[in-house]
Amino acid sequence: MEPIVLTKDPTDGFQTFEEYGAEGGYEALRRVLADGPQAVLDAVEGSGLRGRGGACFPTGQKWRFAAQEPGPVKYVVANGGEDEPGSQKDRVVMEKYPHKILEGIILASYAIGATEAVLYVNSEYAQAITRLESAIAEATRAGYLGERIGGTAFSLTARIHPAPQEYVAGEDSAALEAIEGRRALPRQKPPFPTTAGLFGKPTLVNNVETFAYVPAIVQNGPNWFRRQGTDDNPGTMLFTLPANVRVPGVVELPVGTPLREIIDVHGGGLASGRGIKSILPGGPSSGFLGAADLDVAMDRGPLMERGSALGCGVMRIVEEGQCVVEVVHEIAQFFARESCAQCPACQMETSTIAKIIDSVQKGTGTSQMLDQIPKIGAFAKGKGMCSLISMPIPPLTSATRLFPEDFAFHLEQHACPAATTLGTG
Ligand code: SF4
Repeated sequence: MEPIVLTKDPTDGFQTFEEYGAEGGYEALRRVLADGPQAVLDAVEGSGLRGRGGACFPTGQKWRFAAQEPGPVKYVVANGGEDEPGSQKDRVVMEKYPHKILEGIILASYAIGATEAVLYVNSEYAQAITRLESAIAEATRAGYLGERIGGTAFSLTARIHPAPQEYVAGEDSAALEAIEGRRALPRQKPPFPTTAGLFGKPTLVNNVETFAYVPAIVQNGPNWFRRQGTDDNPGTMLFTLPANVRVPGVVELPVGTPLREIIDVHGGGLASGRGIKSILPGGPSSGFLGAADLDVAMDRGPLMERGSALGCGVMRIVEEGQCVVEVVHEIAQFFARESCAQCPACQMETSTIAKIIDSVQKGTGTSQMLDQIPKIGAFAKGKGMCSLISMPIPPLTSATRLFPEDFAFHLEQHACPAATTLGTG
């Protein structure tokens, strides 16, 4: 495995401007300033890189759309809002590899013809903000930002905008609202940001991790990037291992690495020594997997076949003896709380589901109420301005399918099965 983003010993501080330069940093930018923007677009498109923020959209295709939009004013937004529960990977990249992200942003701006870049950073990540501010100052002093970069007609400024602490604030169009000074609420789409984004101008929005791969892709070529990962989703990606493994934290591995290898080899297995009952492989909106699915390749296709999702690679493991109903209860409450209430169908769906799961958890509900969840999801489908409206359904329906005994225990015994064994999830 050849790391592309986490190239420095994670226990050895952050990568300084000098260290990044010694690794070949900003060489890609210096070279393409002579070759032209098309060289960047060709490299990124040829690499097959997909967005690492959770949607997995082809990065090169998005960049091509933005580049094709006419007009002298365009923007690039690097999304480091990171409000996905449990995810740490954007924080790690922003704190430890600020120049890698910044060079990726500069290359993107050059490729699409943007003149201003905004780094939208989780407002609680004080160290990331400080490091990125320093990186912007260093890159400006070195002539990689500012007027007529490298003696070309390309000019670019970069600034940081703190992202609010709300789940929907990490949605791309909500980020644009926040940067424009309004409440971070998702916009109706279309138009998509590449057509009419920040201040109504064409805007490229990508997750910060996505930008961090770009300098190496441009420097080494698309085929080099494709040596790792899968045909459908080349390269490496960052996975966040949860607190209940022996070695929690962020690891970089090829896309398609078996889930079992990530947990047992890189995470050291469960710290408790218990068996694995279930896994949410891609955050709270992914479907639960059972222990029989542990050899699944961590890629979008194989996970979709099992009713789950890759998301942004943040994992949650439910241990033997723990109760899935407790995890589902937490998820249902989370989405009800985080719905921004702009769309009546979303508000109805998330609040109704939360009430159903709450009554099941308390033992006052019925199995017929659980049967309503897929119907509520089907009614709400397509009626929201962002994807949150469809997020509660996969974890809830997969949980009831895989672990009916946990739900039956709550409904029939009016108690949690884990309370008599090992604790909740
Ligand atoms: S779908 Fe839900 S979270 Fe998304 S904009 Fe509508 S109300 Fe807000």
